[in-house]
Amino acid sequence: MNASKVVENLKQRFPNEPEYIQAVSQVLVTIEEEYNKHPEFDKANLIERLCIPDRVIEFRVSWVDDKGNVQTNMGYRIQHNNVIGPYKGGLRFHRSVNLGILKFLAFEQTFKNSLTTLPMGGAKGGSDFSPRGKSDAEVMRFCQAFMSELYRHIGPDVDVPAGDIGVGGREIGYLFGQYKKLTHEWSGILTGKGLEYGGSLIRPEATGYGNVYFLCEMLKTRNIDIKGKTILVSGSGNVAQYTTEKCIQLGAKVVTLSDSDGYIYDPNGITSEKLAFVMELKNIERGRIKEYADKFGVKYVSGARPWGEKADIALPSATQNEINGDAAKTLVANGIFAVSEGANMPSTPEAIKIFQNAKILYAPGKAANAGGVSVSGLEMSQNSERLSWSSAQVDKMLHEDIMMNIHENCVKYGTESDGYINYVKGANVAGFMKVAKAMMAQGIV
Ligand code: GLU
Repeated sequence: MNASKVVENLKQRFPNEPEYIQAVSQVLVTIEEEYNKHPEFDKANLIERLCIPDRVIEFRVSWVDDKGNVQTNMGYRIQHNNVIGPYKGGLRFHRSVNLGILKFLAFEQTFKNSLTTLPMGGAKGGSDFSPRGKSDAEVMRFCQAFMSELYRHIGPDVDVPAGDIGVGGREIGYLFGQYKKLTHEWSGILTGKGLEYGGSLIRPEATGYGNVYFLCEMLKTRNIDIKGKTILVSGSGNVAQYTTEKCIQLGAKVVTLSDSDGYIYDPNGITSEKLAFVMELKNIERGRIKEYADKFGVKYVSGARPWGEKADIALPSATQNEINGDAAKTLVANGIFAVSEGANMPSTPEAIKIFQNAKILYAPGKAANAGGVSVSGLEMSQNSERLSWSSAQVDKMLHEDIMMNIHENCVKYGTESDGYINYVKGANVAGFMKVAKAMMAQGIV
């Protein structure tokens, strides 16, 4: 395989999907060497079969808003690869959603899920519908309309969606209710469910906690303790909130949070009480992060991201491509020594190069944020055995069985001759090898 030729070919076939091409190209360059040690892979054209999703489902969603207007949105489900388990991955509801973005996310999910040690394939879906500014009743009607099409494509052993940006507990509840209504069946077809109806303890916390567990493993390789460190977090949704919670528990100081309008900078650090305010603000009142600055009298910077503030560690937890080359240069110049990604693909290829050339600790999302989907996998297991596990049990599995294992695999496949751990290479090669071997075993299908 010649990685750049494959990428060029995909670019021509899918010219309007830059994020998908970006994600594919990042993986292919790092697995090229390992791939070429196995001529049988090329003979089976494994690379094209792995890059191009198994199936793309695209549909119209019609719903009625509170004023009685009939609205239409697009709905999608990308079933990328199911060689190691049922298709699995979140749903994103945001106005920016398009086919290329979901294809990048489904591709990434396949590698991420492979790394988790659990039997899950990769998928992603969503809609260009944004819950922001909509009433609960509108969100419910939209979710019902969306599920009225999606239900025929999913199942506990077929495809199990979950949340992502714009899809939290409220949306999962409405989607689940509609599935049950249509099929007359209770089954574990979604994860991230409420605790009362089959959800798992620690699922809401899992992505953020998992990212901090992964960060601590990285820090250990350089004998650094997270305690007392100053941390930049972006975003203010589920991932950012529980990242902040775990940092506070471990004695670190989180000084920033953001949303698409701007960021807040709290030099004294976000305390548990202030975090409770953020959770209420974001999850119940659905307000904007600026209100934090208004309430606590700290700096708010409109229309900017937090990467210019001085700190030790950055945990991007908002969205793709939120750290570009310039931001990465600023972070490195300001002395940041670790970046661990809570979001999916938040760093551009230029930013990654800058982090790696500076030899700072840098973990890509597919390794560092895999805790979320891992606990989704544990939720599936609990649903199948009709039991629920304690918080301590799930947290221990997340921490010691899953995140530490992913870290070990990254070290195994990513350590370079000078001892620098290339976590991008480690995660991609480890994730790829498992999927590749399973694909080879299952023939050309
Ligand atoms: N959306 C999350 C992710 O990017 C979670 C997916 C899931 O739990 O299935 O991994």
